[in-house]
Amino acid sequence: MEVGVDRERCEANAVCLGFAPEVFDLDDDENLVITSGPFVGEQVERVSQAVSGCPKNALFITD
Ligand code: SF4
Repeated sequence: MEVGVDRERCEANAVCLGFAPEVFDLDDDENLVITSGPFVGEQVERVSQAVSGCPKNALFITD
């Protein structure tokens, strides 16, 4: 599993960081940084929750 972000939609509200803080981060300019996958095991569940939980629908699963 890999995940991507639509930067036009992302408003840097950090909701996804709450689901998987080791995968998602915000840089000093409030751009979302995503640790590259593939994600395995229970990370898949938490990344999936982040995708579902993003209030801007900015995250998408790529593989
Ligand atoms: S939850 Fe969505 S809008 Fe918020 S920082 Fe993450 S990708 Fe961006």
